[in-house]
Amino acid sequence: MGAKIRVTVWNEFRHEVKNEKIRAIYPNGMHTAIGEGLLEDGSFEVNYAWLDKDAEHGLGEEVLANTDVLMWWGHTAHGEVKDEIVDRVQKCVQEGMGLIVLHSGHFSKIFRRMLGTTCSLKWREVNEKERIWTIEPAHPIAAGLPEHFELPHTEMYGERFDIPAPKEVVFITWYEGGEVFRSGVTFERGYGRIFYFAPGHETFPIYYDRNIRRVLCNAAKWAAPRIVRSIGCPCVQPLEEIKSKLEE
Ligand code: ZN
Repeated sequence: MGAKIRVTVWNEFRHEVKNEKIRAIYPNGMHTAIGEGLLEDGSFEVNYAWLDKDAEHGLGEEVLANTDVLMWWGHTAHGEVKDEIVDRVQKCVQEGMGLIVLHSGHFSKIFRRMLGTTCSLKWREVNEKERIWTIEPAHPIAAGLPEHFELPHTEMYGERFDIPAPKEVVFITWYEGGEVFRSGVTFERGYGRIFYFAPGHETFPIYYDRNIRRVLCNAAKWAAPRIVRSIGCPCVQPLEEIKSKLEE
């Protein structure tokens, strides 16, 4: 087996600090539960970063230079993420780093920046059931997952989800209240791969679920860089002599 994939799990980490009920589910933050799921797989090295970790939200140049895949969970403080850090993450994705955006991260600055749309959706919080359909079973992110699986209690995210047409729709969710949602979608920007996965509302133990953990492990493997290369805009000499040139 080759070198481990280096994943940085970024979490806003505010709900777990402020809300006792959420802290009871994720005593050390959602990021550590997500990280535990990755570590069970044996393919990853996991680093944690959060909004208030340091002046750069734990995403200094050196951290990102040592990150193959960045996972992003945010909700109440998207606006507090500094634009210079968003610029930095965007450049890393364009140059090959993988980005996995989770749940309410649909409204994060980095996701909206990468996609260029509002990324809005419908939502409802009545603890309803969710059934996730694996509609591309041959996709690497769907490896080992059943045709459908359920979360007993979830927040509803419904269409229309204002995203550009995804490269692939791997999962579609049905909610008890009747809505549907493209809950697992892929994009490519520059050399980087992006996966958005909808499940992960903070008041339910979703990141302990076996199937959800399988999806995140698969996604982190899929999103790992194939190449890492800076993107310039060079003026170049022709490869052959150009005979049709006009004399000046
Ligand atoms: Zn939520």
